[in-house]
Amino acid sequence: MKKAIAADLFERTGLRRLLHGAGRWRGLVVLNYHRIGQAAGTPYDHGLWSASAEAFAGQMRFLRRHMDLVDPADLAQLRGRSRGRYAMVTFDDGYRDNYESALPILRSEGVRATFFVATGFIDRPSLPWWDEIAWMVRSCRQPRLDLRPWLERPVEMDEPDRERAVRSVLRIYKGLPGERLGDFLDAVGTATGSGRAGPGHADRFWMTWEMLRDMRDAGMTIGGHTVSHPVLANMSTARQREEILQCGQRLKEELLQPMECFSYPVGNPAAFDERTRAVLAEAGVRWGFSYYGGCRRFDDWDPYDIRRVAVETETTGPWFRSIMTLPAVFA
Ligand SMILES: [Zn+2]
Repeated sequence: MKKAIAADLFERTGLRRLLHGAGRWRGLVVLNYHRIGQAAGTPYDHGLWSASAEAFAGQMRFLRRHMDLVDPADLAQLRGRSRGRYAMVTFDDGYRDNYESALPILRSEGVRATFFVATGFIDRPSLPWWDEIAWMVRSCRQPRLDLRPWLERPVEMDEPDRERAVRSVLRIYKGLPGERLGDFLDAVGTATGSGRAGPGHADRFWMTWEMLRDMRDAGMTIGGHTVSHPVLANMSTARQREEILQCGQRLKEELLQPMECFSYPVGNPAAFDERTRAVLAEAGVRWGFSYYGGCRRFDDWDPYDIRRVAVETETTGPWFRSIMTLPAVFA
C-alpha cells in the first residue's frame, strides 16, 4: 500500500516521467503474473489474479512503448551490455486463462512472454492446495469454521466473499510441516462440510498440451515449474531431482524443446538451495527465476536467481509505471 501511495505521488508530480526520460537505471526487470481476469465471484484463491484483461493490456502497451522487451533467447546477449532498460513478462503455474485471456492480448500487442508450468497440473488436472482451500471455505454453509486443534479460535465467516476466512486457513497450511498437509486438507474438508474437491473439479482449470503447443507456435517460451509444485528446498535431493528432471522430460516430450528456463515454486530465497541449482545444471536449464521482488543489474547477474517482481490486482497504473522507471525502489 505504501508503494501505491508513493507511486501515485511520483506520477502526479511529474517526477516519474522526468526520470524515465533520463534513463537512470540499467538492467532487467522481470514481471510475474499468475491469472488474468476477474477474481470476484469465483470460489478460488483470489490472490492468484494478477490483473484484469483491461489492466493487463494497458501494462503490455506501456512496456512495448517504453521498455526494451526481451525473452529468454535474448538473455545470453544481454549480459555483456552496460546500457539499456530491459523488461520480460512471465507467468507461473499454467492456468487456462493464460491461454484464453492473456495470449490474445500478448499477440495483439506483439509481446513474447514466458509461461512456467507444473507438468503434473497439465497431465493430471486437479486443484492446487491454495485453490482447494479457498473453494472449501467458500462452499462452507456454517457461520463459523471450527478447525480445532489446528486453530484455537473458530474462523468467522461473516463477510460476503469470505476473503479473510480464506486467508486465515491458507496461513495455517503454509506453516505446517510436509507430512501433515494432507491431514489438514482432509480436516478442512470435514469442518466446512464441503469435502475434498474431487476429480473433474479441475477439468477446465489448467492449459492442455495442445494449448501449450499453440503458445509455443505463437512465439511464447514454455519453461518448467516442477511436476507437483512443492517447495524444492524442503525436499530430499532425490525428490528435487525427480521434480525437476521429470518436468523437463515431459516438456521435451510434448513440446519437442529442451527445458532451458525454470521458475522455483514459491520462489523466495528459502524455496531453492545449492542442491536445486546443481540439479538445474544437470537438467540443462540455463535460467532459473526466483520470486521475491527486485531486479537484476548486469554487473550483479546470477543465472539461477533472476529476480522477478509480482504484478497483483493492487498494482495500480502509477505503481506499475513506477516499477519500470525506478525498480530499485518499486520492484
Ligand atoms: Zn507457482
